[in-house]
Amino acid sequence: AIEVHEIHKRFGPLSVLNGVSVSAQPGEVVSMIGSSGSGKSTFLRCINLLEQPNDGSIIIDGEEIRMKKTPDGSAAPADIRQVERIRSRVGMVFQNFNLWPHMTVLENIIEAPIHVLKEGRQAAVDQAHALLKKVGLSDKHAQYPGQLSGGQQQRAAIARTLAMRPKLILLDEPTSALDPELVGEVLRVIRQLAEEGNTMILVTHEMQFAREVSHKILFLHQGKVEEEGAPADVFTNPRSERMRQFLARTL
Ligand code: ATP
Ligand code: MG
Repeated sequence: AIEVHEIHKRFGPLSVLNGVSVSAQPGEVVSMIGSSGSGKSTFLRCINLLEQPNDGSIIIDGEEIRMKKTPDGSAAPADIRQVERIRSRVGMVFQNFNLWPHMTVLENIIEAPIHVLKEGRQAAVDQAHALLKKVGLSDKHAQYPGQLSGGQQQRAAIARTLAMRPKLILLDEPTSALDPELVGEVLRVIRQLAEEGNTMILVTHEMQFAREVSHKILFLHQGKVEEEGAPADVFTNPRSERMRQFLARTL
């Protein structure tokens, strides 16, 4: 489970997150939608501490990330070992796949289990093959990322994330960089992860998909949650005028 409470994030004079809260129970999928610049990526990056929130609290599986005040008055994680532990248990899937180009697909997948989780090489390789099968890439283990299509690269990136057995998976527009005909194969894998009970926070512009897989939708506007609720409610009967306009533009 994850509980994020009142996250604030500023970049210099720019207030990007103005108190964003979200919680997800084990097995829940929360989707975040909102216009470009509303703070969706920044929020995900704060959750796995790629960005340091200025204020707020984050509790992952009952463990609160301890913050300390820095001289400029913002907050920073107090314990670097805790940050590493959290990061190794929170998987992130990016828009642009972020596979290591000089490693084969298999090497990409076994790297972190071996070096971060200290797994034996053979166990990591066995797991990698099982994950590649799951995402439909059994025959691609020896290829380099540059030899794969975008959809295949993203599925390999998802396999790499799963190899760390994350307690929480963050996905930041995982299909936005894909040609339309490749979106479906990646959404199928994400849907399978949802059905298997993974806890996920998904940023997406795929409204129909979000509606189908999510337990909860958050609509972000200028760094604030403008509307939140069950997909059936917020999509069919949004209370906020901004959400209504957003949906009218995107559907
Ligand atoms: P998109 O849908 O386009 O991906 P988003 O909702 O993910 O948008 P963010 O990437 O979180 O939006 O950006 C929110 C705001 O924060 C933007 O105005 C952006 O320019 C600003 N911002 C993000 N990262 C930084 C940074 N490292 N330094 C300064 N400003 C930043
Ligand atoms: Mg973004």
